[in-house]
Amino acid sequence: MNTVLRNTPDLETLDKRYLFHPFTALADHERNGPMIIVKGEGVWLEDNNGKRYIDGMAGLWCVNVGYGRKEIADAIQHQAVTLPYFHSFSSWTTDTPILLAERLIEMAPVPMSKVFFGQSGSDANDTQVKLVWYYNNARGKPLKKKIIARNRGYHGVTVVAGSLTGMPSLHSGFDLPLSFVRHTTAPYRLWEAEPGMSDEAFTAKLAKDLEDLIVAEGPDTVGAVIMEPVMGAGGVIVPPKGYYKAIRAVLDRHDVLLIADEVISGFGRLGTMFGATAMEMQPDLITVAKGITSAYVPLSGCMVSEKVWRGIVDGQATLGAFGHGYTYSAHPLAAAAALANLDIIEKDGLVAQAADRGAFMHRQLQRAFADHPLVGEIRGMGLVGAIEFVAKKQPATRFEPSLKIAGRIVKAALAHGLITRALPHADTISFSPPFVISEDEITQMVSRAREAVDAVMDELVREKIW
Ligand code: PMP
Repeated sequence: MNTVLRNTPDLETLDKRYLFHPFTALADHERNGPMIIVKGEGVWLEDNNGKRYIDGMAGLWCVNVGYGRKEIADAIQHQAVTLPYFHSFSSWTTDTPILLAERLIEMAPVPMSKVFFGQSGSDANDTQVKLVWYYNNARGKPLKKKIIARNRGYHGVTVVAGSLTGMPSLHSGFDLPLSFVRHTTAPYRLWEAEPGMSDEAFTAKLAKDLEDLIVAEGPDTVGAVIMEPVMGAGGVIVPPKGYYKAIRAVLDRHDVLLIADEVISGFGRLGTMFGATAMEMQPDLITVAKGITSAYVPLSGCMVSEKVWRGIVDGQATLGAFGHGYTYSAHPLAAAAALANLDIIEKDGLVAQAADRGAFMHRQLQRAFADHPLVGEIRGMGLVGAIEFVAKKQPATRFEPSLKIAGRIVKAALAHGLITRALPHADTISFSPPFVISEDEITQMVSRAREAVDAVMDELVREKIW
């Protein structure tokens, strides 16, 4: 810890003067300034005033092994001293990315052939789109270029990934989505299913919506569909049973590839190593990031099936060079961190632990919130959960969006020493703590959340809003 820096009285002023924050209300920030975290240990964070928080979100759904893991720091240090960098263009490479690629292919939830590495979930999803395009050009189907994602899906913010993301607030202001992107219905029972609809009927409706869209666009123009096994930032939405089987059948009828965006679900979050296993999903391409290094350093990957790989290799004869790659693709230091992170996950049995602690968390959430007058739904799977708030339960009625209910709750939770997140386009707060969270810490997390929700309910009553 750099105590000199920590005690610099001007850190807040310097931040306001120089740092352009992502996903931030910028005018508010200019007035109110930053919240500065200076230290982390396990599930606990400490800010520059010494206040401690439970990190109920593992950063942004990513610090899965928790803060302060010396094994990862040592691996990074060793790699930085041995060889901080060399590239992977033109058949060059370094040792750690080879070992990591082998390990990923061996642990993949469905047979996969190769891994292409990037830096972030966003750039990896951009790569996936380029792989689909190159593959379809290679096999003489140059019109098959449209990509379908889901409303509320989150796939990143680069120009392509931001287009795939199904959230209007990420499009307005940036002239997105791009013209080749379409969106279909989210498997969002609370708002998309008829009251009392069975899982089978809801699944059939969702599969039909997708098929109608593919047929309306023309199947010979649709290249791929991208889906998170369980939708994360869009509201922690768990599809009904049988959903991906029905989706796969639609895609097979129309020769459309499936990209599983496992950026959140990969490496244990849902209580299985990959979300595709938990959700019985059969993807052709898989995107990973976040949990691959537990965010100690940036790294992402695109896992590619043999079918797509072979198509791309064969296509080079006619298409020429595979003109895609980043300076930091297959970065040796990131790969060293990933290997150390995967060692921890395996040695400490953290996937099974995420399943166990997840079950405990869901019991606690049910106990604390099931009967709460503001709660419309409690959702999740494994160690990811969410609570959606409603103005009225029967029939479910949303709050006026300008009230920003979830934002108020998140702010109140901070006062109680809990970091959670308000999800856009849903009055929902989410929980996605590090897998090392203890039962006692889960109990504290849930009770702090309950205190925050009660505090906001009191405010709403006082303000005669509710
Ligand atoms: N896909 C999913 C499912 C994500 O949750 C995220 C990030 N929250 C991304 C892609 C984008 O990742 P990044 O922020 O690393 O670009």
